[in-house]
Amino acid sequence: MKDTCERLRKALAEQLKLASGRDLDALLSARGRELWIIGIDPKKRELVDVCGTIDPKLFDAKIRRTYANNDAGFMADAHLPLGITDAKADVFLLNLEHFEKPDDFLFPLIVHELAHYLDQIGEDPAASDADKNNAAAMLISLAPNVRDNPSHNHRWAQHLAVGARRLVSGCHSGHKTIKEFAEAAIPPYDRRPGWDISIKE
Ligand SMILES: [Zn+2]
Repeated sequence: MKDTCERLRKALAEQLKLASGRDLDALLSARGRELWIIGIDPKKRELVDVCGTIDPKLFDAKIRRTYANNDAGFMADAHLPLGITDAKADVFLLNLEHFEKPDDFLFPLIVHELAHYLDQIGEDPAASDADKNNAAAMLISLAPNVRDNPSHNHRWAQHLAVGARRLVSGCHSGHKTIKEFAEAAIPPYDRRPGWDISIKE
């Protein structure tokens, strides 16, 4: 998993920089947190330490079996709900089924998760009026069960809208419009049936 670890670590840092202007390593060191990259293995129904940076005994005791079948996730201060006292970590989770997916699929998903991270740690999205409108369009498009999850809130959506605009306008994405990027970051199965996202470019 060394290649996957390197690809994901690099992608997280690059996408955060491009989407928000923030430096991942600086953010982590200011927070005094490690970054753990954890794989979600739907076949074995368990979690995997992708980078091999977590103490194996700790991983087996407190993390491996906290499996839930998701595409991806971000959890700032994951040590707290996991009941871990001898490490402090922010965690990025990704389903093993997505490990080999192309950048145009994976990167919008990563930006969606990084928007959760920025929201969780209380960062201000500094959204323009246009970003706020696009964020509202994203929230309206969500399927009711996805919208009901409190993590899909206005600040999350504004971080995602800002990231989508910066990536597309800077030509840093394979997606050529904000709408195209937003619809990759919020896939059809997370939206109301038949809904597209009415973005103003
Ligand atoms: Zn989400």
